[in-house]
Amino acid sequence: MTGTGWVALVGGGPGSDGLITARGAQLLEMADVVVVDRLAPRGLTRDLGPDVEVIDVGKEVGAHAIPQARINEILIDKARQGRGVVRLKGGDPYVLGRGMEEHQACHRAGIPVEVVSGVTSAIAVPAAAGIPLTHRGAARGFTVLTGHDTVTDVPTGTDHTLVLLMGVARLDRTMQALTEAGREPDCPVAIVERGLLPGQRTTVGSVADIARRAATARVSAPAVIVVGDVVRLCPAWSDAYGGAQPAEGRMTAVASPA
Ligand code: SAH
Repeated sequence: MTGTGWVALVGGGPGSDGLITARGAQLLEMADVVVVDRLAPRGLTRDLGPDVEVIDVGKEVGAHAIPQARINEILIDKARQGRGVVRLKGGDPYVLGRGMEEHQACHRAGIPVEVVSGVTSAIAVPAAAGIPLTHRGAARGFTVLTGHDTVTDVPTGTDHTLVLLMGVARLDRTMQALTEAGREPDCPVAIVERGLLPGQRTTVGSVADIARRAATARVSAPAVIVVGDVVRLCPAWSDAYGGAQPAEGRMTAVASPA
């Protein structure tokens, strides 16, 4: 590499190694340094040339994850050495991934940055479990939040899909907040753990009982939580509650999962 270095914030997609974009893969091939996250598709780093430096910022140092400021420093330092740096992130860099913070830090340091969108877990992990976020007659739109956020401003109808990332630890409180905001207690919920990875598992229930079911099943992160009628479309729902599928254009009535 001659001249100035560069940074590319590349969305690697969730879980499997196959969801990276062609542009993302091309940049990986050009990289001198790859800075990789815990939930990024790590298999991709195994195919890199022997001279490529791989820096794992997903490891926890002691009990603490590597702070964002330190990650920004690494990107800037390596690029200043004239190297091409791929910051390989899980999912999409700009969906709850602090990608813009990294972009701004590099930009302020005068380093050229390219952003390559990725397939976000918010969409692809439900899809891998058989859940579309919209479906004619079931849902016309969706909202993506973290479980930490207030969910009270989201439309409460079961025909509006709510997708929660990083939501497992606060599942109980989030479901309570949803109920208080006006979601039906029997609104369907699915939790998809380890999406597109070995051991992918879907746990289904309702707003009222999913926290209990998740505790019984020992559900753990990483997981995507989906709330809304679209959950009825997935095989895990049919297995649990008996194959109720939507009639053409409209959801049929299904016995409450509670
Ligand atoms: N920028 C990422 C999200 C980062 S936040 C994206 O667009 O996908 C990290 C959260 O994403 C996790 O807590 C989990 O909720 C979700 N997640 C990422 N990969 C996942 C996977 N393979 N299976 C299930 N959830 C995943």
